[in-house]
Amino acid sequence: MIPFLDLKKQYNTIKDEILPEINDVLDNTAYVLGKKVQAFEEAFAKTHNVKYCYGVSSGTDGNHMVLWALGIGHGDEVIIPANTFIATAWGATLCGATPVFVDCHAESYNIDPKKIAEAITPKTKAIVAVHLYGQAADIDGIIEQLRIENFELREKGIFIHKTSGQKIFLVEDCAQAHIAQYKNKPVGGLGIASSFSFYPGKNLGAYGEGGAVMTNDEALGKKFKMIRDHGAEQKYVHQIYGHNYRMEGIQGAVLGVKLKHLKDWTNGRRKVAAKYNELLKDVVEIKLPKEMEYARHVHHLFVIRVRSQKSEVRSKKRDELQKFLAENGIATGLHYPIPLHLQPCFEHLGYKKGDFPVSEELAEQELSLPMFAELTNEQIEYVCEKIKEFFRK
Ligand SMILES: *Cc1c(COP(=O)(O)O)cnc(C)c1O
Repeated sequence: MIPFLDLKKQYNTIKDEILPEINDVLDNTAYVLGKKVQAFEEAFAKTHNVKYCYGVSSGTDGNHMVLWALGIGHGDEVIIPANTFIATAWGATLCGATPVFVDCHAESYNIDPKKIAEAITPKTKAIVAVHLYGQAADIDGIIEQLRIENFELREKGIFIHKTSGQKIFLVEDCAQAHIAQYKNKPVGGLGIASSFSFYPGKNLGAYGEGGAVMTNDEALGKKFKMIRDHGAEQKYVHQIYGHNYRMEGIQGAVLGVKLKHLKDWTNGRRKVAAKYNELLKDVVEIKLPKEMEYARHVHHLFVIRVRSQKSEVRSKKRDELQKFLAENGIATGLHYPIPLHLQPCFEHLGYKKGDFPVSEELAEQELSLPMFAELTNEQIEYVCEKIKEFFRK
């Protein structure tokens, strides 16, 4: 049996480091925020070369906080890739703003910069660049398209329209991309602000829920800190609207330990990806993920595509392969089977099938193979052998 993700295997390698740290939190009754969370925030900010980092309750909450702190609200539009996890869109909807979807690029699977122009309206307030599957989005491509639309880069992540003065923020959703790089720079500081998720299955996972927000802007950082804790800087003095988005002490302790291993685990994932690529390169029926020239992929997911014949239902072969692998003890995933513009909850926005053909085709053809640093060569070879066997049938 090869699981999609084996968290137990990783835990067993670090158990001796983790338990005393958790014990310490309990001994000090530092259940919420506290020293361990703060130490982790500082280390995590440093790792991403960003000045301010705040531990929060989840990546979804982080997505919300980033847009909220930037003043986005009712009547505003936020540009989001159609191919991403739903939580990217919750950031906008929780602010009362409307998500406006854009198709993904056929090779990177991230937002296609060339298609951003048609989504921009006078109400556009932000663009969320999601570094999906562990690969950085084409940030310079986005900046270039904004320039063509007459928006000039004022400060990092802030664009102003040359005649109307309209302001657009570029923010990052880094939930799948811890220590991923864009042109040799870590993600997280490429726009005005960013959010991360530490959901257990992410490349850096807590032992419960968790997330972080980051920025290089001092005033925005201060706002993050206040929104996270009921809009207060000083206890019981609530300067602005806020919420309870605090990180738990135990999660800070766990993440502090795990961060030290993140580089090794990421290299492990890259090795697994290289092995898959090597063993599957001659299977003409599938398309392997492409590492773009500007990106250092951290392979949160290893997404292959099952090519289909023109005459058949596009998802049929993919579904058959998934079933065949399951019968042979190999767990796989679909990321994601329904693009955001076709989700029932967004029906009122009026999108229809055919609006974003690249995302739609991807949704029907993609299959995510088991991916974690501890996968053995034998396991990878077995997965690849079974894939080849399926297409030989
Ligand atoms: C996981 C994920 C989130 C949400 O993170 P949670 O911590 O689960 O709330 C947001 N965006 C993307 C792209 C994700 O993969």
